[in-house]
Amino acid sequence: MIPRDSDADLAYEVDSLSESYRSAEEDDSDTREHAWIGLLGMGFLAFIAGWAVASYDYSAGFAIAALGIALIIAGFLSRNWAAKQRQDEMDDAKAEEQFHQFEVAQTIQDNTSVRRADREKEIQEIVKQVKSTIKVRCQFCGTLNEENATNCESCGATL
Ligand SMILES: [Zn+2]
Repeated sequence: MIPRDSDADLAYEVDSLSESYRSAEEDDSDTREHAWIGLLGMGFLAFIAGWAVASYDYSAGFAIAALGIALIIAGFLSRNWAAKQRQDEMDDAKAEEQFHQFEVAQTIQDNTSVRRADREKEIQEIVKQVKSTIKVRCQFCGTLNEENATNCESCGATL
């Protein structure tokens, strides 16, 4: 895991990443959407044109109308394909998002345990300092002596 300045920065970065990812996805599916609408439109036009042509040239008109029907079918097929594609991408995006969230949570957890370890080290340091400065007061003259001293350094009484 890459070390980060702060959890908020990381969360913001992930948010903007998935935002740009999402808008790229939308551009893609817009193109596909227009493709199948175009196919349907051309299909209908060819079908109508086929009927018009059929009034004076039956076989040419029939061929154009058949082409129109083929375009309409292709349009519907590509619409279904686009819908399926979009669903797949949404599933992918969801999986990706969940992974990002997992990563963020993981990083926050890592940072927290690093901070906790630092804090524990600090506390141990303080405890060590406090322990090293413990003095024993002589009950006769009141002088502070080292913890492990057996006799008062001032009056010599047994501690
Ligand atoms: Zn003393």
